[in-house]
Amino acid sequence: ATPTSIMVGTGRAAELGVLFRQGEALQSLKEIGVVALDKTGTLTKGRPDLTDFVTAPGFSEDETLRLVAAVEARSEHPIAEAIVAAAERRSMTLPATDGFEAVPGFGVSATVEGREIHVGADRFMRTLGLDTATFAETAARLGAEGKSPLYAAVGGRLAAIVAVADPIKESTPDAIAALHALGLKVAMITGDNRKTAEAIARRIGIDEVVAEVLPEGKVEAVKRLRQTHGRIAFVGDGINDAPALAEADIGIAIGTGTDIAIESADVVLMSGDVRGVVNAIALSKATIRNIG
Ligand code: ADP
Ligand code: MG
Repeated sequence: ATPTSIMVGTGRAAELGVLFRQGEALQSLKEIGVVALDKTGTLTKGRPDLTDFVTAPGFSEDETLRLVAAVEARSEHPIAEAIVAAAERRSMTLPATDGFEAVPGFGVSATVEGREIHVGADRFMRTLGLDTATFAETAARLGAEGKSPLYAAVGGRLAAIVAVADPIKESTPDAIAALHALGLKVAMITGDNRKTAEAIARRIGIDEVVAEVLPEGKVEAVKRLRQTHGRIAFVGDGINDAPALAEADIGIAIGTGTDIAIESADVVLMSGDVRGVVNAIALSKATIRNIG
């Protein structure tokens, strides 16, 4: 491509809200075979709501929510905001916490009123030696509904299964259909529960799901998808996505996402809209045609 055609292409892209941080990205984007997208905050709004709260025998819902929300008030995860908002709706006063700890990809813990509280994924409960089998049926139902199940432990005992649901962005299904129309495979990479991820993937037409990935596992997922489908573009918004954005042949960050994601990307979508990915690929193809 000539410098002029690239300037014209990147200028046109900027008008469409697609920022090419690397000139080469405009040329190489048309050669990809697969687009992989992060789920939370990329395909979904990243603003989940608390939808279900089911306690184990011997635990009251209000008391368990109060303790759990006290711990989550210390976390910046979108799940935490959903749980704290639910406690606020019930006008709860949240007690102080001691020794707060966040384990990325697993969950959070702290001591509240002398009790050890843990909140997080199934795998987090397993690290405590807790078996979530008593909630297996509930977890399966929640997952099938596209909700993300989480667990709470109070004083080393499994106290509740909690679900949050993160709405899909209105523009997401159209964007995926348009990627398919360009002949591309579309994959989703997420730290979320497998059943939940698969239910959401079915709704929006994703071809391949990589779920229950730990933050450092996203890079491995990108490498594996590249082996199967060829050159890969990865789209993400979070701190956790930065290494995968750098590993992908083309890293595309959501402009409403974290600074670290934007700095690791070749392309930035100024809006939170995944249709920007389609615009970027279409422009890449058009720019190259103009040269020919
Ligand atoms: P993702 O945002 O794709 O779900 P994360 O790595 O941020 O990926 O989180 C993976 C999983 O770890 C979450 O789905 C949840 O089960 C658990 N988790 C992480 N942070 C928290 C938190 N603050 N509260 C409860 N669970 C959490
Ligand atoms: Mg995300």
